[in-house]
Amino acid sequence: MSPKTNNLGPMERIVGTIQPYAWGSKTALASLQGKPESDGPEAELWYGSHPSAPSRFQATGAVIGDLPFLVKILAAGAPLSIQTHPNASQARAGFAREEAAGVPLKAPTRTYRDANHKPEIIIALTEFEALCGFRPVDEIASVFHSLGTVHLNVFADGLGRTPEGIRELLGLLLGLGANDRASLVESLVRVCSRPSFAANDTAQLVLRLHEFYPGDIGCVVALMLNHVTLAPGQAIFLAAGNVHAYIGGLGVEVMATSDNVVRGGLTPKHIDVPELLHVIDPTPLLHPVFRPTVDATPGVETVMYHPPVHDFAVDRITLEGATKSWVATHDEIVLCTEGSVNDLLPTQAALVQAGEHVHLRGRGVAWRAFQPVPGRE
Ligand SMILES: [Zn+2]
Repeated sequence: MSPKTNNLGPMERIVGTIQPYAWGSKTALASLQGKPESDGPEAELWYGSHPSAPSRFQATGAVIGDLPFLVKILAAGAPLSIQTHPNASQARAGFAREEAAGVPLKAPTRTYRDANHKPEIIIALTEFEALCGFRPVDEIASVFHSLGTVHLNVFADGLGRTPEGIRELLGLLLGLGANDRASLVESLVRVCSRPSFAANDTAQLVLRLHEFYPGDIGCVVALMLNHVTLAPGQAIFLAAGNVHAYIGGLGVEVMATSDNVVRGGLTPKHIDVPELLHVIDPTPLLHPVFRPTVDATPGVETVMYHPPVHDFAVDRITLEGATKSWVATHDEIVLCTEGSVNDLLPTQAALVQAGEHVHLRGRGVAWRAFQPVPGRE
């Protein structure tokens, strides 16, 4: 049977790759699929053409063509590292530098695995907790003071009142020697453990992070970042240089096709401090939650998450028996996360080729990841 004779219409079913990273949940993806808990962590389900895990057509086994974006369902059972992603010129330069130096692609000290930037957006499927972008400088100082350890007060008092002050503070924290780092984290954890901080969100966050990453300086760096809890449907957009960490929850993540991560804490992995300080954007992020636009007609709601990048845009399409139609201008991915849309069930995806007319039908939630046409929504 041709893949085009079923209810998928012009879409072709594709097979993604599950990444078993240690921080992954054993239950979140499985429960979306109606399966029992998995044996190991299932951190991310990838749909896209990244060379490290390209998706294949289910019917033929052939690898799909190049796409400018990568679609993931991300299931964080434990906090991920504090990280940032390079802009396009930093990625090109960093990749060329590491290639020229002969650092193997899979080496633990390798930072640039490809030459592309990696703007990303994550949209919550369940309540989703994250750290996203720097707090304003005064807020960082007041958070440090509020936890009142001698060391933190010294850092807060010395904090320059400009974005460059933020970069400098991050450099100081990550540059501490092993003993100073250990005593700073230990004194912070001691304060956060006091009964008087039992209802303090920031203190409780430090304790939770410390459970997963004992002694990690990231427990202090976390205090510099906005702490957000997204309701389902809410999103954060991570532009180049945004410092962030996903703490827990299930979400749909779409990004430029890249795996370039520059780490800054909450990780046993290599931290390249000079490169991190070079890549970060120290400008405080005043409004971390991304505002989508909504288009609703009887039986169809489309929530449009269109960040200011040319690589991708994402629509969440909720169908209540009506049909949603469009013409694909470039190759696209359609992913189901709820109910049944055409023939797709939750976590299943299909590729739509450029020029095809799509008619989505059913009762459920589908996500459309596509490349926006300049000047047109
Ligand atoms: Zn990221």
